[in-house]
Amino acid sequence: MPPTYRLLLPVPQAGFYDYLPPEGESLSEGQYVEVPFGGRVMIGIVWGAGGGDVPVTKLKAVRRVLDVPPLPPVSRAFVEWVSAYTLAPEGVVLKMLFGNAKLIEAKKKDSFDCPRFDPDFHQPTLTDAQRAAADYLTQKVTEGDYSATLLDGVTGSGKTEVFCEAMAENLRQNKQTLLLLPEIAMTAALIDRLTARFGGRPVEWHSGLGERQRRFHWQAIARGEAKLILGARSALFLPYPDLGLIVVDEEHEAAYKQEEGTIYHGRDMAVARAHLGRIPVILSSATPSLETLFNGQQGKYGHVKLPTRFGSAGMPSIACVDVRKQKFAPHEFIAPPVFDALKETIARGKQAMLFLNRRGYAPLTLCRGCGHRLECPRCTAWLTEHKKAAQLRCHHCDFAMRLPESCPSCQAKDKFAACGPGVERIAEEVSKRLPEVRFALMVSDLLETPQAAQELVDRMARRELDLLIGTQIMAKGYHFPDLTFVGVIDGDLGLSGGDPRAAERTFQLLQQMAGRSGRGTEAGRVLLQTTQPDHPVMQALVKGDRDAFLEAELREREAYHLPPYARLASLTVSGEDVTEVIKAAQHLAATAPSHPHVRILGPAPAPYARLRGKYRHRLMIQTPRGFNLSFYLRGWLSGLKWPHRLRLLVDIDPYSFL
Ligand code: ADP
Ligand code: ZN
Repeated sequence: MPPTYRLLLPVPQAGFYDYLPPEGESLSEGQYVEVPFGGRVMIGIVWGAGGGDVPVTKLKAVRRVLDVPPLPPVSRAFVEWVSAYTLAPEGVVLKMLFGNAKLIEAKKKDSFDCPRFDPDFHQPTLTDAQRAAADYLTQKVTEGDYSATLLDGVTGSGKTEVFCEAMAENLRQNKQTLLLLPEIAMTAALIDRLTARFGGRPVEWHSGLGERQRRFHWQAIARGEAKLILGARSALFLPYPDLGLIVVDEEHEAAYKQEEGTIYHGRDMAVARAHLGRIPVILSSATPSLETLFNGQQGKYGHVKLPTRFGSAGMPSIACVDVRKQKFAPHEFIAPPVFDALKETIARGKQAMLFLNRRGYAPLTLCRGCGHRLECPRCTAWLTEHKKAAQLRCHHCDFAMRLPESCPSCQAKDKFAACGPGVERIAEEVSKRLPEVRFALMVSDLLETPQAAQELVDRMARRELDLLIGTQIMAKGYHFPDLTFVGVIDGDLGLSGGDPRAAERTFQLLQQMAGRSGRGTEAGRVLLQTTQPDHPVMQALVKGDRDAFLEAELREREAYHLPPYARLASLTVSGEDVTEVIKAAQHLAATAPSHPHVRILGPAPAPYARLRGKYRHRLMIQTPRGFNLSFYLRGWLSGLKWPHRLRLLVDIDPYSFL
């Protein structure tokens, strides 16, 4: 009887498939092979010996073995681990590893000279504090075993310089280093910096690459030739034969959470990957997540600190502007103290930022005749006016329309009123009140590529601009030495809503935003417009007392049994027929295996009860920390029959509560 092999194929159906080897050949684990599957040809991975569920006479044969280095055991273990943790079938996780099959095989004319890196190409002289932090991390790389370390340093303290030392040590050992970034908008600046530091351009991995480049990079990584990889979270799944270090920059960023397809948190998966590969991982941030700080407190992670900025730069001074006590002219949103500070800063030849975390012109358009609000026809959400694009847009789906001529409800003409500000409206106010100021809008929907963002950053760095007005993409690690003032238009924006991480996120975002100012010789100044100057978040920012805030926030989380003291999962049922959705969600709740450690909340309508035309009802599962939630859920959900018209979304450790 011929031996059979168990293959994993990148298909959504759960499970493995048995195949015969090509005539007269044998296969080995990890090989990439081409197989017939359901009338198609597909690439799979040899996972082991056949399972024997299907009679040998019914099996098909592998067509050929591809000329690619076999998938390393640690990559296979990672696929299995991610699948078990997220409840996504192994095949779906495998798909993230090689995406489309075109990446895998080199074409004849392909040639990609993988850059070489010199760990000592341009080594900066570190300060004593930086040296101590770098030594600790370098030591971890030398030990070459699993460790997780939080690199916790204020904005501008030199975290990048410090983790580059650990990367240099890993390069000396000739191993691969992966540096993860939360968003591709940030890659350009860091690429220049790493190129200057290591004398070669890091190999990129993110959705912004063309197909040819992707193929080159994938292959250079799979062959182990690419030693320095800079990527978005998807880069974690690449088949590194010799990964020696992972650095997660801006580890607190919510953008690490993938919210579609296989739902996972890039930072958490990086720690898991490091654990499986027995290598160090560095989590870097000026505003670490509560989860990571907690792991530091518990001794699970190492914790190195850089408490001061590099050079003469001090920390910015932060003050609140209580908007309830301010007088605003009609249709103005910049409070007088913020306006004065802005004007004064620019008059002195310095630069500024105005921050409002809301895209578009106005978040709500209503009819002054009848009070009708313009809503998305497919989502429980208002339409945001975008003046530049002359559109009303839904920020949750791709719905867009022109502003109607008359009210759809009362037919009145010219009665529409734009309510509240978005960044475009702030820009309009600046043009009116400070016409001589040179400013640009920095918003994701107006910047389509990382290059466009970089161009804006360069113009700011060359002093061709006095002011940037924008959303949270401005808060990223940019360094403008002459930027001395940051005005925050609506500091409370993130605090409302039922998100248990609202306070933490607002604190992080405002702290990062503040960190853009005063990075040169002159101290920075930050004014926060708020209606809640006494809120713990605002108080912590004003007093510069992060630790007190975190302690208070941790106590709160503990009292309410929230992460990091407990674990959560959310199960969202969605579908077009609301009755069917409700019934299915109730049925789901009724089938939950009872367990003394598991609490089931709901089902209840999600805060956005309808999105993209689908109704959404949700259950929250709450368990103690350390509970094997994935195992419990698999036991519960694997037996369920699910109608085609409905979808069940499983989110372990949810970050979005919308
Ligand atoms: P962080 O990553 O903590 O925000 P950076 O590494 O970006 O900080 O450092 C802030 C600025 O200070 C950068 O321009 C960086 O090049 C500079 N810098 C930091 N440490 C040093 C050093 N030891 N020597 C020279 N320049 C440094
Ligand atoms: Zn919508």
